[in-house]
Amino acid sequence: MTAVLVINSGSSSFKYQLLEMDSETMLAHGLVERIGTPEAHLVHDMSENGESEKFEKTLEIRDHTHGFQVMLDAFAEHGPSLEQHPPVAVGHRVVHGGARFFEPTVVTPLVRINIEDLSELAPLHNPANVQGIDAAQKAFPDVPHVVVFDTAFHQTLPPAAYTYALNAEVAQKYRVRKYGFHGTSHKYVSEEAAKFLSRDLGSLNQIVLHLGNGASATAVAGGKSVETSMGLTPLEGLVMGTRTGDIDPAVSFHLHRRADMDVAELDELFNKKSGIYGLSGLRDMRDLTEQANAGNAKARAAQDVYVHRLKQYIGGYYAQLGHVDTIIFTAGIGENSVEIRREALAGLDELGIVVDDARNEARSRETRVISSDESRVTVLVVPTNEELEIARQTLSVI
Ligand code: ADP
Repeated sequence: MTAVLVINSGSSSFKYQLLEMDSETMLAHGLVERIGTPEAHLVHDMSENGESEKFEKTLEIRDHTHGFQVMLDAFAEHGPSLEQHPPVAVGHRVVHGGARFFEPTVVTPLVRINIEDLSELAPLHNPANVQGIDAAQKAFPDVPHVVVFDTAFHQTLPPAAYTYALNAEVAQKYRVRKYGFHGTSHKYVSEEAAKFLSRDLGSLNQIVLHLGNGASATAVAGGKSVETSMGLTPLEGLVMGTRTGDIDPAVSFHLHRRADMDVAELDELFNKKSGIYGLSGLRDMRDLTEQANAGNAKARAAQDVYVHRLKQYIGGYYAQLGHVDTIIFTAGIGENSVEIRREALAGLDELGIVVDDARNEARSRETRVISSDESRVTVLVVPTNEELEIARQTLSVI
């Protein structure tokens, strides 16, 4: 049996998942959060035969290294045993790989320095990812550690797609270009769709809509990302839970001049206080749709803005690709929201896109088609699994 441990580390938390890779099944997963406080929290979930059993604990956790010790204790006390399932490698999600990293990479001291160097582009994420790598290397010193970048899948974007029409000297000096994110998910679901349809990935043009708290769209041609909605940072593109997505950059000049907002305030406003939440006061799509359906005008307006932007990207990517075979919905909203899927694709019959209402409304955790048999474009819901994709890519390089 071949086990891989996958780590997704934030600044005060990390998620982990142990996978058995011969059958590609999850053995256990968990979350350590509020690291650095006396009230840190561990949730350790041991799934067996589809039955999940949870262990939770609140305690002081000093730092990430301590957090990994607490995780190891949970495995030892509650299973599954890491002696029976010793990880052959640890895979780490890293947010920003810049233009340097385009494939999964074994961690060396130089790779670590390069990830730190890219903190300039992802100041909140890369340092936290490095903290996770350092702590995990102490906990698992004898196995290779591999980094899988959110940006890597988008390194195939052509220059016309990744270049901003910004002064070229400035752009080059400060590494300003579109990088794109959620790449692990876009890659995974576009490949799963091809398998599900028994089609050659190389022959498919796909539009992938990853709609979670963060949201992005990608045009995938022959398995390669050719356009994507997130940019230098994850702020660009679709309307998100708390992020604006696309907005005239001059809004920030205006707010700086008129409201005396500084960079930190603008960053917080655009990233944390806007999007669905900023429009309606609600962050969760379930609540938004429920309120919109109950006649709450603000909620309805916010959902309309969300859908309008989504449709704009679907149309834009359709034009970029010229021909579209599949449209894929994934992540929390994409996998679950009947309303968002219906509204985003409403009225597109002329483009060969026809959603079947009964198929769209059927609940399932499996990959499924929701377009009608007459629809020229096949519309699918494909549950994403970023941890499995990270584990696959980790195994591919060791
Ligand atoms: P993250 O980007 O944090 O990984 P997820 O992919 O888990 O986010 O997606 C979170 C979003 O999915 C939330 O907005 C949540 O409301 C939405 N969501 C989850 N379940 C449903 C559901 N049944 N119907 C509509 N939206 C849902």
